[in-house]
This record gives sequence, structure tokens and C-alpha cells, in this order.
Amino acid sequence: MGGLAVSEIHLDGVRKQYAGTTALEEVSLHVRDGEFFTLVGPSGCGKTTTLRLIAGFESPTAGEIRFGDEDVSGVPPEDRNVGVVFQNYALFPHMSVAENVGYGLRFADEERRRGRDERIAELLELVDLPGTGDRDPTELSGGQQQRVALARALAPGPRLLLLDEPMSALDARLRERLRLQVKKIQSELGITTVYVTHDQEEALAVSDRVAVMNDGRVEQVGPPREVYERPKTRFVASFVGDNNLFEGELVDVRDRPEVARETKGLRRLHVRVGETVFEVEASSQGSGSTGEIAGVEASQSPRSDGGSVAFCVRPEQLKIDGGENRFTATVRETEFLGETTRVHLDWEGREVTVRAAEPPEAGTAVELGFDPGDGHVFEDQL
Ligand code: ATP
Repeated sequence: MGGLAVSEIHLDGVRKQYAGTTALEEVSLHVRDGEFFTLVGPSGCGKTTTLRLIAGFESPTAGEIRFGDEDVSGVPPEDRNVGVVFQNYALFPHMSVAENVGYGLRFADEERRRGRDERIAELLELVDLPGTGDRDPTELSGGQQQRVALARALAPGPRLLLLDEPMSALDARLRERLRLQVKKIQSELGITTVYVTHDQEEALAVSDRVAVMNDGRVEQVGPPREVYERPKTRFVASFVGDNNLFEGELVDVRDRPEVARETKGLRRLHVRVGETVFEVEASSQGSGSTGEIAGVEASQSPRSDGGSVAFCVRPEQLKIDGGENRFTATVRETEFLGETTRVHLDWEGREVTVRAAEPPEAGTAVELGFDPGDGHVFEDQL
């Protein structure tokens, strides 16, 4: 296939307003050369709009979009050298699979045109559909059709690949298989890819980095593990993976001077949830952008004197009979999930979830605990 050009994308302060709706408030992003970058967020948060702006189907109301150093704001979609795959395959039903894949080669140069058949065969091989060129697309399964759509998008050798919910019409098992195939093809080609999904699990599974979007803004950008383990905002904590979220307040540092003690860059915050006070560790050695853990900012603001905060801990970080911060909850029900069991408990009217290999019986009171490093504190935005 040889050297598909790769590229990087910059969005600087991009805003998109439709009559009566602001689709994007302010989006700044940098997608690196060759990376699999995913925009994830709930319906209506602006993912598709962001992708359409990158593709050139829409123009920003304000802000700038650059591919490398090139400002593309005035460049029409056909000159942007991007391949796009949408949710609904959009294959031409009256054309064979090969004709569909070759369609994108129509405008390519003479040299490419001569190698056209070879190129089509190569692309069908790449998407694991060798020898299907003469078939009618309607004879193929949904997953196969979507791979033809991918081959068609890749045919002209675009420098960017944009995928908008390409798997959402497929069933769960097929989606899992296809996402691995897409990821493999993407890394083989090393093509810069922006992928849109509302499915956070899918985003974590395939991406080099994800941008979590909410209400026309980007809340956090980072590798999947970082976004999962160190959510920067309450929204990210609740949207990405399971989480136990509680309303609480920071304990007044004037009454409890020991709360302010700092050791080796680790600050311990005390958060009261109901009658229980938890000790939570917050690293003050943040990445320098918005602070590594929102609690650090909270602890440095006036709100640290009794300010209300949200507090979260992941189900897998809550241990039955373990951890430094303890509280007692009553088992309501259990869900067997194969590898593990999800246990739902009631803690003084709050819902709590933990994972357990050997779940306790419903109605049992159990002591739950977590270590200070496993809790996250966010300034309450309500
Ligand atoms: P979904 O997952 O449901 O596709 P999304 O995150 O992709 O959602 P967008 O499609 O980008 O979200 O839409 C963001 C907001 O902009 C929504 O409120 C939507 O109604 C609005 N919007 C999108 N396109 C248009 C348009 N052409 N005219 C008016 N409003 C629009």
C-alpha cells in the first residue's frame, strides 16, 4: 500500500453555533500524527459536529482548525484528503463490492488508476474480505458492509480517517470483533484517526487517547487508563466506567489543622459524607494544566473551609473488610457477571456498588473500605 500520508489536527477555540443551538461552546484539541483519537460523550454533546468540522462539511463559527501547519478553514471537504465512515454504511447498492471500494479512486491520479484492480484487491485483503469484489453489498452482513465502507474510505490514501459511530448499528459481539479489526488496520497503516462513539467502553478499548465531551466542551483528554483512573471532573468520573459518587463537604481546616499536613507532595483532604469523615490523598504535583485531581484545587481555594464537593471511589477500589476508610453498608442485591459479581448496597440511603468474587447474601451488613489514594474529590458544580 505504501506510505499513506499521516497528519495531525489542531482545533483552537472552535465554536459552532446553529440557529438557536450552540453545538460547540469551545473546543481545543490536538490529535497527533498516527494516533487513534476518540471523541466520546453522551448524545448531543457535540461529537459529530466536531467530526464534521474536521471533515469540512461545516465551518466553525469561531476558532481555527489546522492540519499540521495548514489552516483548513477555507478548504472544501474534497480537498482535505480525509476518509470518512458513517454509522449507516452508505454503500451504493447497485454497485459490486469492488466498484464500491474503487469509487473513491475515481479522482485519483493516472498512476493509481492503472493499479486500480490491484489496489481494490489489496484493500479487500486489508479489511479481511478477500475475494468478495464481485459480490453485491446487500449480500454481506452488517459488519462486512462496514468493512467495505472502511476500504472505500481508505482507497484514495487519505491522510486522516474519520469514523462516526461506525459500529452502532451492529450487535454487541460483532461490534467487539470489528473494533479490534479497525484498531489493527489503523495501526498497520499508521493513519491518524478520529473516532466518534457514545460508548465509553468502546472508547477505552480502542483508543490511544480519548477526549471526553460534555455539553459542547472537552472535559478531559488523555490515554484511556489515565482518564479512567484519574478523572479530572465529576462528569468524567460518572461517565467513564462505573463509579460511586457521593455528595460531601471538605472538613474545615481551621478546626482540624492536621488535615492540612503535607508529606512528599501528597496532601490529605478530609471529606465528610453524612456522618463519616474520609481521608483522601491528592497529589499536588499536577500535570500543570488544570491540576491533576480537582481536589487539589479545591483544597487551595476558599471552599476548602467546609465547601461542598463531590466524592467518588470506583467499585473495584472498594473492598469488603479492607482499606483505611471504613463504613458499613447493607447488601441489597447481587448481579452475577461471570468473572465477578456486582454487589449493590445501601449506605444510609446512598447507593453503593462493589465487585466481589464471593458476594455476601442480601440483607447482610458489611464493612466496606478504601485507601486514601483511591478516592477522588471534585468541586461540586451543582
Ligand atoms: P449524537 O451521539 O446523538 O449524534 P453528538 O454528540 O454527535 O450526539 P452533535 O450531533 O454534534 O452531538 O450535536 C450537538 C448539538 O448540536 C445538539 O444539540 C444538536 O441538536 C445540535 N445540532 C447538530 N447539528 C445541527 C444542525 N444542523 N442544526 C441545528 N442544530 C444542530
